[in-house]
Amino acid sequence: MTTDRVVLVTGGNRGIGRAIAERFVAQGYRVAVTARSGEGPEGTLTVRADVTDAAAVDAAFTEVEQKLGPVGIVVANAGVTKDTLLLRMTEDDFDSVVSTNLGGAFRVVKRASKGMLRAKWGRVILISSVVGLYGSAGQINYASSKSGLVGFARSLTRELGGRGITANVVAPGFIETDMTAALPDETQAEYRRSIPAGRFATPDEVAGVVAWIASDDAAYISGAVIPVDGGLGMGH
Ligand code: NDP
Repeated sequence: MTTDRVVLVTGGNRGIGRAIAERFVAQGYRVAVTARSGEGPEGTLTVRADVTDAAAVDAAFTEVEQKLGPVGIVVANAGVTKDTLLLRMTEDDFDSVVSTNLGGAFRVVKRASKGMLRAKWGRVILISSVVGLYGSAGQINYASSKSGLVGFARSLTRELGGRGITANVVAPGFIETDMTAALPDETQAEYRRSIPAGRFATPDEVAGVVAWIASDDAAYISGAVIPVDGGLGMGH
């Protein structure tokens, strides 16, 4: 396995992003995480960046390039929810979620693509969600942002697929993090009943799939949507 690559994970201070960063560190990669608060796991370089701010994203990449080298693998993981039903959803509820989840990926991947084109090698991994294709009442903003990532990865594959760059989507189902802990107990129980695996996953179960997509074994996979959802979204 090639382990001299530089990885940048957005939102690597907690949850799924943190587990992804830990997994790459364990495999010997040079790993940077962006965080608005807190720090990434041991062995990572933490850089400050809010993904809604293009200048902050640019500065974060410059710092990573100076300290670790050009970024070959980018994981757009930072994401937020602001759940409410359509009629109650404000412009800001919609815009802020789309700007973080989809716009954030745009800013980060655009910046990363410069170095990838120079290197003629790159892995773009976008963390979507089962609800992007399955739909979810109360999450029109979030589901729209997450399905947008599919069109993003597939268009990027058509733009840059011939330059040694792959772009894939990982679509987690329900993962034990702060995001799902915030759901009411009743909603959590309902979801558990509808997941064929009968349980939520750990962040590390997502991290393993992300690390595999970054590996040389996955060089011929691009534009794919890879579910990590215990069977919840089958066929979607
Ligand atoms: P958490 O709420 O635990 O963590 C979210 C991460 O995103 C934090 O690191 C947070 O940073 C960061 N973040 C949020 N907004 C911004 C921003 N504007 N700029 C920079 N960083 C930001 O979420 P999870 O770990 O659960 O989720 C990670 C990703 O996985 C998200 O994209 C989420 O949509 C997706 N996902 C999660 C699922 C789940 O079941 N948990 C299921 C499907 C998808 P900070 O700490 O500074 O706020």
